[in-house]
Amino acid sequence: MKEEQAIRIDLCSAGKEKPQPDQLEFGRSFTDHMFLMDYTDDKGWHDPRIVPYEPLTVDPSAMVFHYGQSVFEGMKAYLTSDGDAQLFRPQRNFKRMNHSNSRLCIPAIDESFALEAVKQLVGLDKDWIPKAEGTSLYIRPFIISTEAYLGVAPSRHYKFIIILSPVGAYYKEGINPVKIAVENEYVRTVTGGTGEAKTGGNYAASLKAQEVAEEGIAQVLWLDGVERKYIEEVGSMNVFFKIDGTVVTPALNGSILEGVTRNSVIQLLEHWNVPIEERKISMEEVKQAHKTGKLEEAFGAGTAAVISPIGQLVWEHEHLDINGGQTGAVAKRLYDTLTGIQYGKIQDPFDWVEKVENVRQSSLKASG
Ligand SMILES: *Cc1c(COP(=O)(O)O)cnc(C)c1O
Repeated sequence: MKEEQAIRIDLCSAGKEKPQPDQLEFGRSFTDHMFLMDYTDDKGWHDPRIVPYEPLTVDPSAMVFHYGQSVFEGMKAYLTSDGDAQLFRPQRNFKRMNHSNSRLCIPAIDESFALEAVKQLVGLDKDWIPKAEGTSLYIRPFIISTEAYLGVAPSRHYKFIIILSPVGAYYKEGINPVKIAVENEYVRTVTGGTGEAKTGGNYAASLKAQEVAEEGIAQVLWLDGVERKYIEEVGSMNVFFKIDGTVVTPALNGSILEGVTRNSVIQLLEHWNVPIEERKISMEEVKQAHKTGKLEEAFGAGTAAVISPIGQLVWEHEHLDINGGQTGAVAKRLYDTLTGIQYGKIQDPFDWVEKVENVRQSSLKASG
């Protein structure tokens, strides 16, 4: 991709009606514009543009529909009390997108150009960032393979698209522990598979376990695909356990997705001198820790919820209550600090936030 390429902007004629702030549902409504860029084997990535949000025209034989060659990312724009929009560690998302691209044989994108595209798009649709406490604008960059061909091979054509969706607060009545079932039958992925790539197929493979999980189970805890013994992730979050004063999270092993939130949690704990270990951890170890009263906290970490405390684990018909079903002190402190930094309420000692410049529609129209 040529870096000097300017993003062409084609504004929508009239903005859509925005959803009511109290009716924001995750991923249901989308803003006025989207970013698009095409890839062909002869031209590389080209024609970056921001256009009105609208359905795509894609050939029914486009390879993505048949063999699932696609990747995605998930991040958010937050509004500060000064009315500025800001992003949280967005460089990591595009770095990870290229890591996923590599695994899925999709050509790499220019990471800084992709970040520039996000900033322009968010700046343009900034009015769509909801203002209420805990709300944000979810950003979904993704790449699909679009070559019209049914052969099994890497596609020669792609689209890189970014869409935006206003989302409500994840916790409406305060941060709340959930019940999690340990999944013994189905696995998400295995080392050597696509687990460390953010690709749709991993999600397709994960649906069944959630479907068969009993009532009241928020998410499933995935075990490793070989021995069904070691803990991998919880739903679409990374997972942490506080055992006897030390926080433990599964080490990256090729089948675990490396979360931006996971990395931020580790850095914060180190900063606070809370012992943190990245290593293999078995479900048996967690059960033993619970038995001896040493399992102090458990929580998931990901962009959507930030921190999701686990109040109860269900494993082979046993119910393990954690911290009396209450949010633990470490989970609470992490949640308050991360959201504080994201919304610009507290100082950001790590340089994690990245401001988005305002883009005035009138100035864009005038300059064409
Ligand atoms: C996206 C994702 C996460 C969380 O990553 P963040 O960057 O923290 O949002 C964790 N696990 C899976 C499987 C994911 O797809």
